[in-house]
Amino acid sequence: MQRTKVKDLLQGAEVGKEVLLKGWVRTKRGNKYVSFIAVNDGSTINNVQVVADAEKFSEESLKDVTTGAAIAVTGELVASQGKGQVYEIQATSIEVLGKADPETYPLQKKAHSLEFLREIAHLRFRTNTFGAVFRVRNSLAFAVHRFFNEKGFVYMHTPIITASDAEGAGEMFRVTTLDPINPPLTENGQVNYEEDFFGRATNLTVSGQLEGELAAMAFSDIYTFGPTFRAENSNTTRHLAEFWMIEPEMAFYDLKMNADLAEEFIKYIIRYALENNREDIEFLGQRLAEEDKSKPQNERQEMTLLEKLEFVVNNDFERVTYTDAIDILLNSNHYKKKKFQYDVKWGIDLQSEHERYLVEKHFKKPVIVTDYPKDIKAFYMRLNDDGKTVAAMDILAPGIGEIVGGSQREERMDILVERMKGVGIEEEALWWYLDTRRFGGCPHAGFGLGFERMVQFVTGMGNIRDVIPFPRTPQNAEF
Ligand code: ATP
Ligand code: MN
Repeated sequence: MQRTKVKDLLQGAEVGKEVLLKGWVRTKRGNKYVSFIAVNDGSTINNVQVVADAEKFSEESLKDVTTGAAIAVTGELVASQGKGQVYEIQATSIEVLGKADPETYPLQKKAHSLEFLREIAHLRFRTNTFGAVFRVRNSLAFAVHRFFNEKGFVYMHTPIITASDAEGAGEMFRVTTLDPINPPLTENGQVNYEEDFFGRATNLTVSGQLEGELAAMAFSDIYTFGPTFRAENSNTTRHLAEFWMIEPEMAFYDLKMNADLAEEFIKYIIRYALENNREDIEFLGQRLAEEDKSKPQNERQEMTLLEKLEFVVNNDFERVTYTDAIDILLNSNHYKKKKFQYDVKWGIDLQSEHERYLVEKHFKKPVIVTDYPKDIKAFYMRLNDDGKTVAAMDILAPGIGEIVGGSQREERMDILVERMKGVGIEEEALWWYLDTRRFGGCPHAGFGLGFERMVQFVTGMGNIRDVIPFPRTPQNAEF
């Protein structure tokens, strides 16, 4: 007999028929006449109720049907008499596939803290919250591919091991097979990476962009979606050492087209999740509302999670230049009352508090900040005619801060080489990258969306460690 998933059972497609259900017990309750077993198989946030009459099932036969156990149930799918569910299974047989000792199974019926669940990340998938988070994550990932596929973008796999440390996006993890205790040395006592696996020093990539640009010079429109690694020691709620990034790169795009695409893309994937994960998002919204109750009034959310997402999907993002953003900050009461910890003046890298002020207090919607000072941005960003700013764009989201970083790329060879020199990158080190400017170069642009930050935004989860299955952060690589 074929197993039916809980999601399909609850839609009632097989009412009146004999069905086979497999899943994990969430709860069991009952009395001397009947037991009610709530079963979940991860296909939906909802459980299906299994009804086991005492006439057919002795207490003894159900003793191993405890929270966390895996079971197989056959029975008839019937309209439910009880409240809370439309359909339930009247069981004819229940088989325990895998026991879960109630004495030692860490997930009890009570609510557990997110911190505790992080310590048992191998089991946290089985909770309502993480079930919802990772179903939403799955939908967003699927929507990413669907969006770009519909637009004719080519999905490109860029390397994870890289020999270029020129991307400048952050500290890198070294990849080596050399003996750490006794590495081969050069004459002047340095580690001799010529004897390493690749014959040179290599690292885990911080971005697929440079390789993405190479592909865009042939396919016009490409995107990457893969893991990236940053050995930055930032213990924040928005940074991971291993995270996933989506990096589209488009030939013949300028900054405006780049921003338009990013906005359309973000709205598309949120809309997809709203349409396909309604119940999960509603559940996560209730969770947030509960959490909010313990906060002081002025820190509470103005909108529910659903309202926030619908607002973002239905309204234009704000667009502002860096220079105007600085003016807004300088003219704010917040600044005048000296409430910013970090100083505000033209040329600074916007701090998280500045970004949050712009997004949450001033504009109250996602903001695309463009045209940053060249000295705080990467060498490959296109120099504007003013000679001071570059065609960069960051997208800032309420509650998260920076969610996208992108730019129009510098396609002019001489200026690009000049800027590389300025940051100490040898032309030879990136000869292959420069070849795209030598041979058939063209105006082009792209951006990087941090996938986990996007998942945070859609799920409302405050800590980035709770939206990736097994987070990698400083001092933490369990599981
Ligand atoms: P931030 O200033 O927040 O550290 P960044 O300027 O280093 O970000 P980029 O190099 O532009 O970020 O990377 C592109 C996107 O990748 C960012 O907009 C963000 O969404 C995401 N991102 C960057 N670093 C991390 C990280 N350590 N963990 C998770 N996501 C990240
Ligand atoms: Mn960073």
